[in-house]
Amino acid sequence: MEAHHLRNLLGPEILRARLEREGRPRTTLSFYRYVRLSGVEALRNTLYAEWEPLGVLGRIYLSQEGINAQVSVPTANLGKFRADLDGREAFRDVPWKIAVEDDGRSFLKLAIKVKRKIVADGLDDDAFDVTNVGEHLDAATFNRKMDEGALVIDMRNNYECLIGHFEGAYLPKADTFRGAIDEVKELMTLRRAQSDTEPEVLLYCTGGIRCEKASAYLKHQGFTNVGQLHGGIIDYARQIKAHGLPSKYKGRNFVFDERLAERITDDVVSVCMQCGTASDRITNCHEVTCNMLLVQCEACAARYADCCSPGCREIHQLPEAVQRTWRKGRSTRSTKTKAINDPEGLRRRIREEEESLALNGTLHPEIRNPSGEWELANGHGGDAPRSIRH
Ligand SMILES: [Zn+2]
Ligand SMILES: [Zn+2]
Repeated sequence: MEAHHLRNLLGPEILRARLEREGRPRTTLSFYRYVRLSGVEALRNTLYAEWEPLGVLGRIYLSQEGINAQVSVPTANLGKFRADLDGREAFRDVPWKIAVEDDGRSFLKLAIKVKRKIVADGLDDDAFDVTNVGEHLDAATFNRKMDEGALVIDMRNNYECLIGHFEGAYLPKADTFRGAIDEVKELMTLRRAQSDTEPEVLLYCTGGIRCEKASAYLKHQGFTNVGQLHGGIIDYARQIKAHGLPSKYKGRNFVFDERLAERITDDVVSVCMQCGTASDRITNCHEVTCNMLLVQCEACAARYADCCSPGCREIHQLPEAVQRTWRKGRSTRSTKTKAINDPEGLRRRIREEEESLALNGTLHPEIRNPSGEWELANGHGGDAPRSIRH
């Protein structure tokens, strides 16, 4: 098969419809391995040609340092997919982490990408030994060490920790892996200075991959007592279920597919960023130029029309054509984590916008003409209303 056939060319609506029609049970799983790979481009094409006919969907990163995959596989083809992986020396016996909560719609297409690294970690790998990792711990051992008072550290980004985390874990404030690891290094240096003994630390992340780098880095920094949750939260959840262990992880696990999160326990550990009531419903502001990631309860979702604020709601409720015109020339800002760092700031903005809205009838005077009608709805065709040209 020629390389240009080895990618998906369909839009998301068609893909979603196709998945709806398909109707066959799927299993969402993830795996990774740090392993030296050569001929990565050719391997990418071979894997695409083999996995696409099996109905594999998902996101796979390949690099010279290994593979990192999040996929959904038709349950009937799991055996064939396993055999395909095991047929390759580099991927033989690579452990799978199976998602516990799965509606079979986690991914819409198959994307296999060649990357420089399988995780964007911002670390200079050449400066330390990435194979000198911490002790891999199973769920039962992780629980026991927590009971013994080890320091538990969440190696995920701030927005991932929000809706679920281990009881009493240290949650870094950073929104990047690099930032989080610097924060953790500082914390551990402080702890070490405060006591004579080296503190025992337990790291965890979504699927275990980030802890491989984090533990190797911390060991390179001179910390020796480093353990890590093997298989991450995803496999912890499976082990807890399989062996009837108590879950010390509370709430939901943030994942990187269409589901956004899977539930591990019924505990709700976060609050709605708009009203402050208990909620772990995570969503993006539906106004696409904003797209802010936020925790929003059902009542606030109804109140703000799935948006982060009255300002975004007003745009989101305009006729489609007017929305499109308004968005022209506006960049889609990366406001992803703003609300998470400062929910009080978001609530203040909502209060101010509500007041201004009550006073002026709009938060976007630029889109109304003097008669108070929508310019485009008023028969001005596809032209941008003069008042919103910049
Ligand atoms: Zn709310
Ligand atoms: Zn918004």
